[in-house]
Amino acid sequence: MTVRAVCVRPPAPGAILGEVPPPPLTPGTVLVNVLECGVCGTDRDIVAGRYGSAPPGSPYLILGHENLGVVREVASGVGGFAPGTLVVATVRRGCGKDRFCRANKSDQCETGEFTERGIGGAHGFMADQYVELPEYLVPVPTALRGVAVLLEPLSVVEKAVFMGQRVIDRRGNTPGDPPTAPPAALVAGTGAVGILAAFLLRVRGYEVTAIDRRGAGTPAAALLARIGATHRSVADGLGTLGAHRFDLVIEATGSTSLDFGLVDLLGRNSVLVLTGIPDASEPPTSVEAGRLLRDVVLENQAVIGSVNANRSYFEAGLRDMTMFEEKWPGALATVITSRRPLAEFLTAITDRISGSMKTVLTVVS
Ligand SMILES: [Zn+2]
Repeated sequence: MTVRAVCVRPPAPGAILGEVPPPPLTPGTVLVNVLECGVCGTDRDIVAGRYGSAPPGSPYLILGHENLGVVREVASGVGGFAPGTLVVATVRRGCGKDRFCRANKSDQCETGEFTERGIGGAHGFMADQYVELPEYLVPVPTALRGVAVLLEPLSVVEKAVFMGQRVIDRRGNTPGDPPTAPPAALVAGTGAVGILAAFLLRVRGYEVTAIDRRGAGTPAAALLARIGATHRSVADGLGTLGAHRFDLVIEATGSTSLDFGLVDLLGRNSVLVLTGIPDASEPPTSVEAGRLLRDVVLENQAVIGSVNANRSYFEAGLRDMTMFEEKWPGALATVITSRRPLAEFLTAITDRISGSMKTVLTVVS
């Protein structure tokens, strides 16, 4: 018996739908049938040969890190999971050596010796089945079956917003708090991460502006309007935003030139959180470094990076998904702009459809 799996051989480009041995249910583990896998830019980079590594001793890597599955079988002695339970697996596995990895905070690993399922050193989820330790499986309420494949990207957003909020909170309180005007947030990029950031910031009470380079007719623009966020096209540059300044800026594009421009949109005592991953081989960018850094100092600003997410952010994401559904019933599901069968994985990963927010591969329907 074999199972289907999308296999890559990094750093070689390309991917195939292979037949691989089924993952063995070993003591202490849970066997999961994959239902859906989200596709993102990291998958595209791995298939292009720019990123990724196979597990030690394996000639291939099973791709895929955004996942939703259903428990099929539980090894004896494993509590808390029963066949039929919906689950989302976290992505990063800690090195076990530093204090963060030992405390289930491998997103802050200090050795860099972690692995990431479907990305580096550990097989992913674009397959019929996988096996996992229960500590890395987050049980999902059945009411969220249609949207829970978005939990992994939402966990990244949860962490980014949490970290940004901690930086904002360094301002401290003043008499008369809270202020009457809502804080202003800017989200750069309207892919899934940007849109999920807009959802989260709206339920946190922010006035949200989201920018991209497209016009008003996209599904993302319509969705932003539905959740009470403002969409602005910056195809003609960030100057389009005028004198607007923001308390919290969440970046989700990985565009170096845009990132520096965003620093200029920070208000006093504010923070820019970078989540996009720029191409490190880009040619040098010319910036007014002196003026930029002077303003950061004189206006108490911060620029921070945020990557990955530990289990606590997945759990926060589940609570917030329930809030999104209460506040805007059915809206979250429209972030998934396309569902395609696993057999169409290659076009799903490599075709960049303008205006699409999230493509999901259906493994079992
Ligand atoms: Zn570590």
